Parts: sequence; structure tokens; C-alpha cells
Amino acid sequence: MLDEATERAVPAASRDTGAHRLPPPPSALRGRIVVAAVAVGAFAAAGAGQTLHALGSGSDAPAADEITPLANASDGAAAFGVGGTGPAAPQVLPVAKTVDTAGEAQKLAKSARITEDREAAEAEAKRPKFSRPANGTYTSGFGGRWGEMHYGIDIAGPIGTPILAAADGVVIEAGQASGFGLWVRVQHEDGTITVYGHVDTYSVRQGQQVQAGEQIARMGNRGFSTGPHLHFEVWEPSAKTKINPLSWLNARGISV
Ligand SMILES: [Zn+2]
Repeated sequence: MLDEATERAVPAASRDTGAHRLPPPPSALRGRIVVAAVAVGAFAAAGAGQTLHALGSGSDAPAADEITPLANASDGAAAFGVGGTGPAAPQVLPVAKTVDTAGEAQKLAKSARITEDREAAEAEAKRPKFSRPANGTYTSGFGGRWGEMHYGIDIAGPIGTPILAAADGVVIEAGQASGFGLWVRVQHEDGTITVYGHVDTYSVRQGQQVQAGEQIARMGNRGFSTGPHLHFEVWEPSAKTKINPLSWLNARGISV
């Protein structure tokens, strides 16, 4: 019915408009045009709240003039592809959803990083900032001893007892020292230097960053020593004055 109408209409249209008109499309293509036209109509009808029936129900077939514009209008095919069979909305929504999902993933990753940073900060805050330099027996204090000045404190223990950094700092020396045999010196943030003498071995090197409580050496009996012990000194930053290590430790919550 449609084909007959089209074939009748096209020659008339060609005569009317002359050579400028495009030749009529082959019948196979016409079929698709009609489908496209109906689909576009359905699409428009759906949008306008009309029924498909209203558009397609005309007893007269559409004339060629009415169809031809759709033939070279790829809009018809495009409209058919977008709005024809499948619902249009779900084809658009997944794109928006994908973007949202990526956004959510980024938010989660950022949240996880913030959590990690906060946990690291909390762990850092909880970490002891000062430490007893060694476990053992407190055998000598700071001050005069046997007619001489003793500039540190002594903690006695078996050879090999771990010696720990008393505070965060940087190793400024690890090696031989007159009188102490081997020693390690650590400088702290405020410039204070702690000294660990008579050590048997050391496990840090100059320039190394250490934390409070980190093992830096082992207890020994080197140098002028009457038995295995740690000789521990604290030098104030200004003029490198040697102060009472026990007072310095006690002021920082450490008992010996
Ligand atoms: Zn000593």
C-alpha cells in the first residue's frame, strides 16, 4: 500500500521540481525510510504523549514529498538508532553512573589516605620520645667520685646488652674514643648530644637518623672500665656543658 503510493507520487514530484530533485530511492531503501519515519514518529509521539496509532493510522500513504526529506536526513536513522527499540534513558544513565562511581572511588581512596595519615600521626604521637639508654644496674651517678669528676651515669649489665638511643636524633659519631674504647654520640633536635661509652659493638653509622629506643650499640667493657657497663653522658648544646644525665632523663619521664 505504501509502496504503491510512493511509486505513483514520485514521478509527479520529479516533474514538478525538475532536475534538482534527487531520484527516488530504491524500494529496499524506501522500506527502511518508512520504518525510520514511523520510528521517528513514534519517538516524537512518545515524547508528545501521543499514541503510535495516531501517526500511523492515516488511510492515505504519505506522499513522496513527505518521505523524501527523511531519505537524505541521516537524522531519521540516527533517531531510529537512539530512540527506536531500546529505552533511551538507560543508555545515557550508565555513563553518568560510571563517572559517579569513579568519583566515589576517588573519594574512598582519598578517605583511605587521610585515615592512613591520621593513623600514622597517631602512632607517631603515641611513640615514646625518650628512652632509658640501657637496662641494667645503676652503679654510678654524675658527680665527684674517688676524688675525680664523673661526667655521666653508669648502668651495668652483661656484655651485649642492647644500648638504645635516649631520644630521636642523628648519629654524629660512632667509633673509637680515648678512655671509652668505642663510643656512639647522637645529636638531638635541640642540639643536645647524648654519649654512649665503653660499647662492645655499635650498629649505626655517622649521619644515620635514629629514634628514641632504637638499638644503636651493645654494652661492653672497653677503655678505662672496671666491668661491663654503659657510661652515658648528656652534653648541653651551648658550650657542650656536661650535665647530670639522671636529671635530664627524669625531666623527660625516664627513670633509671
Ligand atoms: Zn661512667
